[in-house]
Amino acid sequence: MAKKYVYLFPEGNANMRELLGGKGANLAEMTIIGLPVPQGFTITTEACTQYYEDGRDINDEIKAQIKEGIAWMEKTNGKKFGDLENPLLVSVRSGARASMPGMMDTILNLGLNDDVVKAMIKQNPDPKFERFVYDSYRRFIQMFSDVVMEVSKKNFESLIDKKKAEKGVKYDIDLDAADLKDLADQFKAAYKKALGKDFPYDPKEQLDLAIKAVFRSWDNPRANVYRRDNDIPYSWGTAVNVMPMVFGNLNNESGTGVAFTRDPATGEKKIMGEFLKNAQGEDVVAGVRTPMPISQMEQEFPEAYKDFIDVCHKLEDHYRDMQDMEFTVENRKLYMLQCRNGKRTAQAALKIACDLVDEGMRTEEEAVAMIDPRNLDTLLHPQFDTDALKKATPLGKGLGASPGAATGKIVFTADDAVEWAEKGEKVILVRLETSPEDITGMKSAEGILTVRGGMTSHAAVVARGMGECCVSGCGDIVMDEENKKFTLGGKEFHEGDFISIDGTTGNIYDGSIKTVDARIAGEFGRIMGWADKYRRLKVRTNADTPTDAKKARELGAEGIGLCRTEHMFFDETRIAAFREMICSDTKEEREAALDKILPYQQNDFEQLFEAMEGDPVTIRFLDPPLHEFVPNTEEEIEKLAKTQGKSVQAIKDIISGLKEFNPMMGHRGCRLTVTYPEIGVMQTKAVIRAAINVEKNHPDWNVKPEIMIPLTCESKEFKFVKKIVVETADAEIKAAGSDLKYEVGTMIEIPRAALTADEIAKDADFFCFGTNDLTQMTFGFSRDDAGKFLGSYYDNKIFESDPFAKLDQKGVGKLMDYAVKSARPVNPKLHCGICGEHGGDPSSVEFCHKIGLDYVSCSPFRVPVARLAAAQAAIAEKAEKKN
Ligand code: PEP
Ligand code: MG
Repeated sequence: MAKKYVYLFPEGNANMRELLGGKGANLAEMTIIGLPVPQGFTITTEACTQYYEDGRDINDEIKAQIKEGIAWMEKTNGKKFGDLENPLLVSVRSGARASMPGMMDTILNLGLNDDVVKAMIKQNPDPKFERFVYDSYRRFIQMFSDVVMEVSKKNFESLIDKKKAEKGVKYDIDLDAADLKDLADQFKAAYKKALGKDFPYDPKEQLDLAIKAVFRSWDNPRANVYRRDNDIPYSWGTAVNVMPMVFGNLNNESGTGVAFTRDPATGEKKIMGEFLKNAQGEDVVAGVRTPMPISQMEQEFPEAYKDFIDVCHKLEDHYRDMQDMEFTVENRKLYMLQCRNGKRTAQAALKIACDLVDEGMRTEEEAVAMIDPRNLDTLLHPQFDTDALKKATPLGKGLGASPGAATGKIVFTADDAVEWAEKGEKVILVRLETSPEDITGMKSAEGILTVRGGMTSHAAVVARGMGECCVSGCGDIVMDEENKKFTLGGKEFHEGDFISIDGTTGNIYDGSIKTVDARIAGEFGRIMGWADKYRRLKVRTNADTPTDAKKARELGAEGIGLCRTEHMFFDETRIAAFREMICSDTKEEREAALDKILPYQQNDFEQLFEAMEGDPVTIRFLDPPLHEFVPNTEEEIEKLAKTQGKSVQAIKDIISGLKEFNPMMGHRGCRLTVTYPEIGVMQTKAVIRAAINVEKNHPDWNVKPEIMIPLTCESKEFKFVKKIVVETADAEIKAAGSDLKYEVGTMIEIPRAALTADEIAKDADFFCFGTNDLTQMTFGFSRDDAGKFLGSYYDNKIFESDPFAKLDQKGVGKLMDYAVKSARPVNPKLHCGICGEHGGDPSSVEFCHKIGLDYVSCSPFRVPVARLAAAQAAIAEKAEKKN
């Protein structure tokens, strides 16, 4: 039997989102549970994949099934495409497996042409109806031209603006039927001028082109960026939903709305949304007019409002999650056009998850699984300092569309936001309204402020998704985008002026206000508590200073997984001694220089042990190539020459002798201790002496340093370095009369180390995967330069994500898995972790869980993300085992 590419709404259900996309699956589910959904069909995501396989063409099999779908839809709705008695108009909407709001294309009012328009008007001579028909027609031509044929919408917007100016009116709604008819003619002429052919007359041809456009939109640049940011594979494709139109712009008895069953910004349990009378859905989202709050709909359309509230309850109970819905009222009757689990701020996500547990709708495990770990980041983003805020007076107020606080310099275009941010400026993007092409600029900005649009406007939705602060719809701003200025509260602001915005309250302040980091408390604490209950992986942190270590502990870190000791060498007094060491001729000279550093290192380590209060601390020995430490300026060179009693030229010769063609594969890591054992000796003494002192002060703590050797590639090399460490450490412990315990382990960050892990494991107490170097060396991509060419890899679909950010499970992951599997039988006590950047990336954490690591280690602010991701991995594994 031929593959099924088209599903009628009654044929699908909510579990079919892989095939039908989220929108299609939920339209089917709403149909099944008896909600008022205009009946249409969904073309599957597999049809999209097939479209790309067929060289961006829809094959005959799929076309035939679409034809059958159309026939069913015409019959079910008693309307026909192009019919002059009962014409069928449809919407064509994208719908991927994971929701990608605003990223792909939608076409409304498809099926109109001159004859259909005339026939519709003839049937209903009411001038209001005539206005509606021409309004729909001009919208269709505009949208089809823009979305399907890629004729810039500016062509059409300027014609509308001209018409409004001619008529002396402010809003589209003030244009009458004759104006809109004229606009439709002008639009068709603009289409012909741009493309050299007439606007397509046949609705089936219109539909064919529109479906292709939706498939094509899966590959548009903004969708590609969104997918990369949200871990959505390109291979998924999008489904296409074809659905009869219902008309919110039919008359004043009609309207359209977007609503959430709970507040997507705070999570509060109340229906939240916006409604626009006599309008179509795009008007609400685009922020063309500022809509009324949903509660006002009750006065305008009491029956439809009541039905809608019933639907809200039904959907929440059914999906057991906050719903985001689009609906239309046509002649006072309610139609549901979409529902999905609503996008929400991190704050709202936590509150909703906790409330659902308290309401008995979800278990703790389900609540933990509901939170997107990437979202947590926003909670750790700055808020305004309370004292600084008390002193500030708001200049104006918009809607608090996405929480958090932001301070920065004003820019007016997305391109400027990108450019200024690249220069290191913090910027606030101020716009009349945003649109999908602004996405990169929105990402670069600290916050977004818009003049128009509500809580569901593009700016609000996208900012919430990104976890970026946004204040939308501040109508008091008098904007002059062209001249890059605006006035608010009697003050004129220009590009580069400082402004501060509060995405929770919607307040806007002049100048910059101090911000402070957020803390884990309330619902955040509750969810993290549950996460800790269910996770198996431990979470440590990468920290080199007591401040970072304390912060990480506050955020739940259970130890330090990586302390990069070289960061302690750059302080002025230490670097001088270190340079002396580098430029020494003899072992004795080197030891004398290292002796100067020893007390500093010891003190640093003592502070770290103190900060961690007996939790494990892994100290990694010196790693970078020595060349990174040499003096750069003439003055520094002269100074060093003087202390060393050498000529300037002699120092310069030493420096140039240290230059390497491939320093990342050069004289670094444990190779330094192989050539200069005294470095390892000094660092061991510093670690052990520090641990002994702290243990003395805190006998109740379990101080047990873990000494980590970097860049091992061979078991004999590890043994050689370990011997130096053990001899030094044991001598120190003996001399102090202490019984301190310590461990010696290694980083696994060279493919050869992973491949010979069984041999290395015989002598190692622990392994820690340095996936930054392991990725670099497995791919052969320089971790410092790959950014320059990875863009072309994304554009050409060779890579979908940055392997330095998201672990490459296929290659690098395979090495890790192999290393763990071959090492554990040799040394069952071996404990294994990861401390590359991937240790804080949710999908990489899940992988680490799967291959049985003991812990992940990441930067302090990613600790909560890792805790949650680790819990989700454990919960998912348990669920899989059950099934
Ligand atoms: C690594 O290589 O993954 C690592 C943690 O070490 P560094 O980034 O310091 O090279
Ligand atoms: Mg490394």
